[in-house]
Amino acid sequence: MKLQLFLLTVIALVIQDVASEGKRWWSHVEYLADDALEGRNVATPGFEKAVAYVEAEFKKIGLAPGGIGGYQQPVNLESRTLIQDKLKLALVRDGAEEPLTLREDATLSARGELNGSIDVPMVFVGYGLSIPEAEWDDLAGFDLRGKIAVYVNAPAPVAVSDNVRSHVSSAGERWAVLKKAGAVGIATIPGPPASPSTTQEPASTAPSTAGAAAPLPQPTIVLADAELQDQAGQLVSMTISRTGADKFLAGSGQTLAQLHALIAGKKPLPRFPLVGTLRVEAAVKREPIQSQNVVGIYEGSDARLKNEYVVMSAHLDHVGIGRAVNGDAIYNGAMDDASGVASVIEVARLLKESSVSPKRSVVFVAVTAEEKGLLGSKYFAARPTVPFDKIVADINLDMFLPLYPLKVIEVQGLTESSLGESVRAAAKEVGVDVQTDREPNQNRFIRSDQYSFIRRGVPSLAFKFGYEAGSQEEKIRRDWVRDVYHKPSDDLKQPIDVEAAARFNRVILALLQRVANDAARPQWNDTSFFKRFAASASH
Ligand SMILES: [Zn+2]
Repeated sequence: MKLQLFLLTVIALVIQDVASEGKRWWSHVEYLADDALEGRNVATPGFEKAVAYVEAEFKKIGLAPGGIGGYQQPVNLESRTLIQDKLKLALVRDGAEEPLTLREDATLSARGELNGSIDVPMVFVGYGLSIPEAEWDDLAGFDLRGKIAVYVNAPAPVAVSDNVRSHVSSAGERWAVLKKAGAVGIATIPGPPASPSTTQEPASTAPSTAGAAAPLPQPTIVLADAELQDQAGQLVSMTISRTGADKFLAGSGQTLAQLHALIAGKKPLPRFPLVGTLRVEAAVKREPIQSQNVVGIYEGSDARLKNEYVVMSAHLDHVGIGRAVNGDAIYNGAMDDASGVASVIEVARLLKESSVSPKRSVVFVAVTAEEKGLLGSKYFAARPTVPFDKIVADINLDMFLPLYPLKVIEVQGLTESSLGESVRAAAKEVGVDVQTDREPNQNRFIRSDQYSFIRRGVPSLAFKFGYEAGSQEEKIRRDWVRDVYHKPSDDLKQPIDVEAAARFNRVILALLQRVANDAARPQWNDTSFFKRFAASASH
């Protein structure tokens, strides 16, 4: 009887804790996603308020400043805008200029560095991929030096894992290969229309907002340090439209319809030089922007291991003010990713309040400019404020979606490293199951800030609330991605299960404690595609 009473009291305490922890977590979301912060776009007063908030919370908790001379790590960015009335595109064939209509035939991106004019030959290189492990090379036998590589934006019919496919198809990786082959620019031709049944989230790493209620066109933002720019050396970055494609293909013996038929039939594509040259005139306005990551450190307790660091990250920025939907123009980003930053704050607080200090140190980072292409995390991973080779893991939270009670956590990267075992054990402590990503073709493992660490060899994990196939939870999550993701309705009015978020935070806390206390550093599994980055990272 006495024991039962004791147990009931313990259960009551836990329930009460979850309720108050949930409220506190939500209070951070309420501040960060308030209309007053105007969607936290980089280099706006709203973002600065968010920075000040996180800094104040870190200070209140008692984290040590982990930035440069304080909690902030300055991140220098560059804003690039094409000067529209100084742009010109034309095809030059047999000495005659065939003008192209901007936007209708092709669109130039400010990622291209051209400031002036060039006439440049173009080569169509199929899918534009080079995948040595699959013995697939669209570039073989072609001289790309001084030319624009034109490729079709569609998945190649090559038998590789989703991880490999998304890695080699990423803008940075593609360009690295094309640049090495001597190309001076890229142009994409649209693939066949996607089947309407597949709702694809626009990748964070791509500036495109296709499929979402596109915010107003925004300047291209890149890291100021050219060494850290994925697309450095790209003079021309161009998207050819459906209408424009046949103008570019004219005289080659191929049409867009023929290429699409080959793609639909999963056949290899022909490769050929395009007829004539492309004449481009462009002027880019470049402006420096200063932003910042916010970094707080909870020092470990072990004399030796405290010099190693477990990173917990989430992105502080969102997309700001944009096109109004139902009269609302503020893209609050409550789930994307005020929710993750709120968890960073809460987990830091729980860690500090827990009776046992972890052996390794834990670095809590709210990164900037994720929505511009993972820029803040890329900067932190390249120029960390703690020694890079002492960073043992990144635990990243981006839009974990506590839209219903927590039964199972979907873990991105579950089977890639020893962190998978750690998260299994941590979830078990809280009575939660784990599952792998149910939609691997969305490639979420490389689509948020954890990828900046993965790319440099650091084992990482990311998370979502999981679901059973065919369940009500699955419907809720799919509807959210379709109706709320990157829309003004990702705000404070949506139904959020704050107690489920608090339980999730408890799992993340248990995970951090495990990783920080384990005798061994996390390791990539031998079977993991991503292991190669650990081998090639300059430690
Ligand atoms: Zn996000």
